[in-house]
Amino acid sequence: MIERKYTYGILTLLQAAQKDQSELLHFLRQMVEIESPSDDKAGVNRCVAFVAERCQALGGKVRLHRQKHFGDLLEAHFGPAKSKQKPVLLLGHLDTVWPLGTLKGMPFRIAKDRVWGPGVLDMKAGVAMAIAAIAILQKQEKLTRPIVMLLNSDEEVGSTVSRPVTEKLAQQCEAVYVLEPAQGLEGAYKTARKGVGNYSVRVQGVAAHSGVDFERGHSAIVELARLVERITGFTELDRGITVNVGTIQGGTRSNVIAAEAQAEVDVRIARAKDAARIERHFRSLRVFDNKCSLHVEGGLNRPPMERTRGTVALYKRSAAYARELGFELLEASTGGGSDGNFTSALGVPTLDGMGAVGEGAHATHESLLLEHMAPRTALLAAMLADAGK
Ligand SMILES: [Zn+2]
Repeated sequence: MIERKYTYGILTLLQAAQKDQSELLHFLRQMVEIESPSDDKAGVNRCVAFVAERCQALGGKVRLHRQKHFGDLLEAHFGPAKSKQKPVLLLGHLDTVWPLGTLKGMPFRIAKDRVWGPGVLDMKAGVAMAIAAIAILQKQEKLTRPIVMLLNSDEEVGSTVSRPVTEKLAQQCEAVYVLEPAQGLEGAYKTARKGVGNYSVRVQGVAAHSGVDFERGHSAIVELARLVERITGFTELDRGITVNVGTIQGGTRSNVIAAEAQAEVDVRIARAKDAARIERHFRSLRVFDNKCSLHVEGGLNRPPMERTRGTVALYKRSAAYARELGFELLEASTGGGSDGNFTSALGVPTLDGMGAVGEGAHATHESLLLEHMAPRTALLAAMLADAGK
């Protein structure tokens, strides 16, 4: 079988990952206990500094991309400085959705075969696994190719400042491994993600007293309600297009005909070429009552990560390793976006969901399953050792 050719002493990687697990958990605990919400620059920078130190201790060459409003981005290089092989990019983020002080009510803890805490699954564990995998490869002298790790600070708020850095690095790399959590408790790697867009739809009507001047009024609420029906009709499930009017606001009092109303809309597309289709739909919206006016803003912020041949090849190789490690690795697609959307859209083979297995990301029951940590760290190490072979 062709997959034997990829065998890279994979069981020794697993043994090392098992042996190093308590060290990994200790490191993870320290990371989780440095709270790092996206909107707290100082907090994120404390976490960045802590991880940077660990990378340097492993011989990594660290570069910080300083940011004005967010935490710094951490870029670390491992492996040979000169190589004929292109690097592999390990992509992650150190920011979390959890505000400062969350730890008090939701402390880091290990219980019921799980690890709990804010940001533990999304995605500090993924970062800890990547660093553990690099350490294992170094010890076993298997770190023969260059590896770049980029840890962003604004992923949970749309990756606006990190996107250009992510894209620039990805273009120099042969493949991108995204350290986001796996899909579901079955732990699938993600080979496709939908693209994500946001539109804001605002209607201006004509206010009037609902008792005295009813006929003079033109309700922005009524107008928006009609538009919402139309916008909702943009969904095409068979094409993988969903359009969700997630919030709606409008009016001031019950006895006033509403002068203003607005809706925020989330759009997901499975194929890049549908971005233009959605855009056309939104631009073609017209008011029903021409005394009202309409403003539409927005567009796609993350292109879809399509299931490309390069990505499938990465998945197949990892599934072969997983079999050698004794488990079946599934493949999944998701409607959620990640920084992998950007790199995949550039045509760089991207495999996502290579971090921890768990549930409750962004929720108070955020936790990961301990039993998967060592095998998946070994799998990550195997993929780093042979990528490009
Ligand atoms: Zn994440």
